[in-house]
Amino acid sequence: MKNLLTVFIGVFISSSILWAQEHSAKYDWPELIPYSNNQENEQKSIESYSKEEIRQWGLLQPVRFFSMDRFDHKYPSLTPYHYAANNPVYFIDINGDSINVKKIQESDKKNDTNNMNKIITDLQTQTGLTLKVNKNGQLVYVTEDGKPVIATNKDGSSAGSATARNLLIKAIGTTKQAYVTLTSGGSRVPAAGSPLIKLNVDQITQFQSGASANLNSATMGWGMTFMHEMLHSNVGLAQSDPNPPIFGQTGPVVDMMNTVRGELGADYGQRMSYGEQVVNNGQSFIPFDQDARRMLKKGYAPHPKSLFIKY
Ligand SMILES: [Zn+2]
Repeated sequence: MKNLLTVFIGVFISSSILWAQEHSAKYDWPELIPYSNNQENEQKSIESYSKEEIRQWGLLQPVRFFSMDRFDHKYPSLTPYHYAANNPVYFIDINGDSINVKKIQESDKKNDTNNMNKIITDLQTQTGLTLKVNKNGQLVYVTEDGKPVIATNKDGSSAGSATARNLLIKAIGTTKQAYVTLTSGGSRVPAAGSPLIKLNVDQITQFQSGASANLNSATMGWGMTFMHEMLHSNVGLAQSDPNPPIFGQTGPVVDMMNTVRGELGADYGQRMSYGEQVVNNGQSFIPFDQDARRMLKKGYAPHPKSLFIKY
């Protein structure tokens, strides 16, 4: 009896709170501004729209409702492609607020480039996550029933590298903030644990085009460089590369990225050195297999069939 009473009081209080929240939310809402000049629309009051209509138009302010969510962008105007074609958008949730990529978006807009897209495309392939940039310029991943949505391979296994996925989920989930920008110097984080992740477009492009025939050109492309630098930052391992770089040494960040490479496939190779080797013709090489490492160590250019990046 006591229990029943408790339940009853509980339900009563919950519904009162719900009513109060909704009630106040109604009157806190800004005036509805119609998107057309239709007179009829202009005269319609907020109450005459269904919640679903309002949600679809992005006018609902979920932050005013009490909710388990940390973020106020529960119903973004996402295209719930591939995995959820028939699922209503409100089954999709978003996590994360730690990696700010606003500067990349701004640069894309200003220079008519699509670097943000290149980063997201690579990271999605390499982590299996579905990534988006929210309205605050934060990199986020899509979840369903509270779990990250992970793409699957044809055989039903999870796509991408589990290590990469966990690293990115962890980085996005921290309470710290990191900011991604573009730089004309080398891709870098100013110091281990710094919140500034700097990416160099030309360098990344060079690393991609300089990949040998049997090496996946994404192994030091947008996504992998993004994750490498992220690991140096405050949302990652906060550790440095070998300094000074001695040919053949890797360091904790390259080692972690090699774990990711191992999970992505043999064509990603294993980065055998953080530092480059310059051979007598003045070309720089980074080895991605033992053979290339051995040749470079002797001061020779690696065999064309081995795995390396030349620039
Ligand atoms: Zn580094």
